[in-house]
Amino acid sequence: MPVVETLSRLVEFPSVSDRPVTGIGAYIAERCEAEGFRVERLDAPGEGKLNLVCSRGPAGTDGLVISGHMDVVPVEGQPWSVDPFRVTERGGRLLGRGTADMKGFIAATIEALPRLPRLERELVLVFTCDEEVGCLGSRDLVTKLSGRPLPSLCLIGEPTSFKTFRMHPGHAAMRLWCTGRAAHSSKPDLGDNAISKAARAIDALEALAERWRREVRFADMLERPFVVMNVARIEGGSAINIVPDRCAIDLGFRALPGMDEVSLAAEVGAAVAPWATAELVRVTPALLTEPGTPLEQILAPYSRGGGAAAFATDGGNLAKLGMRSLVFGPGSIDVAHKADEFVPVDELHRAVDIVTEVVARRCG
Ligand SMILES: [Zn+2]
Repeated sequence: MPVVETLSRLVEFPSVSDRPVTGIGAYIAERCEAEGFRVERLDAPGEGKLNLVCSRGPAGTDGLVISGHMDVVPVEGQPWSVDPFRVTERGGRLLGRGTADMKGFIAATIEALPRLPRLERELVLVFTCDEEVGCLGSRDLVTKLSGRPLPSLCLIGEPTSFKTFRMHPGHAAMRLWCTGRAAHSSKPDLGDNAISKAARAIDALEALAERWRREVRFADMLERPFVVMNVARIEGGSAINIVPDRCAIDLGFRALPGMDEVSLAAEVGAAVAPWATAELVRVTPALLTEPGTPLEQILAPYSRGGGAAAFATDGGNLAKLGMRSLVFGPGSIDVAHKADEFVPVDELHRAVDIVTEVVARRCG
């Protein structure tokens, strides 16, 4: 099947992260099985959530992992000029949700399969769910696959316009609770205003973010070489005539490789302690793969530069399975998550060739 057609099929599954991936998972599994892969469907937490692990070639030989996430971000509220869940070709671009992030790469991988030589080393394809909501699928995979011998090199085909990234910050989500005491608004002295507490907590968070900004690391690789913090959401109060008794703040920060999210979260907790209690909700680990891995050498002829990605990937979790990941793929992150997301047609075709050649060189 031509790669554009495969991409169309993938895009037509509206695998937004709050929906099941059973449909797209079944389709990918079928395509892999048709090419002689052993396919494991591993249930992940949530209705209709699963990860796929598809392998071919002698098990236990240190070949290559190729990984992509099956889920996409929502389209609601975005000014799409085409149906986001159909592929539309326009001016050398293939438009549709996920064409860049990252169904284009998955389509290219599927198209490469029939072209592969006999494998002397194992090729493992890992397709995850819930990447866009905090790499939850790959996190579950770490538990399910721990102890199993898997290849130590991994290619994650996120859209990098064929740049090779070996590092990215992680992401941690926190929730802060401010608790007060309700009262009638005519007698505010009898209450304790939770929103006022939240305001003080946010001041303290800004001071902490400023302190983090001064602790520079990886200045050669990152545009923002420090822990970035974002106060993302606030919710509190119930009515105009009631002193609010509760207020919640959602906050995210991006730890750099080697940093401990739990202790950073403890810093947040200490900073807001007079006004709020803090809970670390979710951690997406950072990625740091050492330079000069065999995969980096194999990718070098196709690579349009290197460095670090600003966004998180499944690579941080997969590192816990002993995989040294590189992020490299067709399309640009600048168009991902937006209306009229696209992958250039020529990059999609090129990706088929690159995947074929990379696998042949590592596993053939
Ligand atoms: Zn992605």
